[in-house]
Amino acid sequence: MNTQMQDTVRKDWDTYFMDIAYMVSTRSRCPRRHVGAVLVQGKKLLGTAYNGAPMGVQDCLEAGCMISEEIEMKLVDGQEQLFKKQRCIRTIHAEQNLLLFTDRGDREGSTVYVTDQPCWTCANMLANSGIVEIVYHRAYPKDSDKVALLMKHKGIVFRCLDHFEPPAGAHMAVTT
Ligand SMILES: [Zn+2]
Ligand SMILES: [Zn+2]
Repeated sequence: MNTQMQDTVRKDWDTYFMDIAYMVSTRSRCPRRHVGAVLVQGKKLLGTAYNGAPMGVQDCLEAGCMISEEIEMKLVDGQEQLFKKQRCIRTIHAEQNLLLFTDRGDREGSTVYVTDQPCWTCANMLANSGIVEIVYHRAYPKDSDKVALLMKHKGIVFRCLDHFEPPAGAHMAVTT
């Protein structure tokens, strides 16, 4: 194989780590959304996590999702409007599990690759976790405006890999 051919065949690092995040997401047992997240320092993988119930308790497939509805007030053209949002609250989100299973020292200056744009709570926690970059693939429109603003204020690089193609078998429909 000549050098030029190797270059075209070889995956770039973004694709490599997002592929891993998608493979990790297949461990999730919440039927609404399978989310995977990985922590990367330089080019070194330091942790993997997916959304799920705490170890040793019933998960969404065993006990069903635990749906919570929130009402959020937003200003639209200067007018207060109420928006309803449903979420499954049985699971600990992938990003939160990633923080539970990695060390603060490892996170300083690191990057999180996550299959889905983080929700507000995860984004808020990631903003205080030492990481300096978040790379995601699927959009999460419910929280995206305020999450993008938070990242901007915090100086965290926030990138969407919009041309990414998930590995076969790791992509599923999501409930928004
Ligand atoms: Zn669920
Ligand atoms: Zn979240």
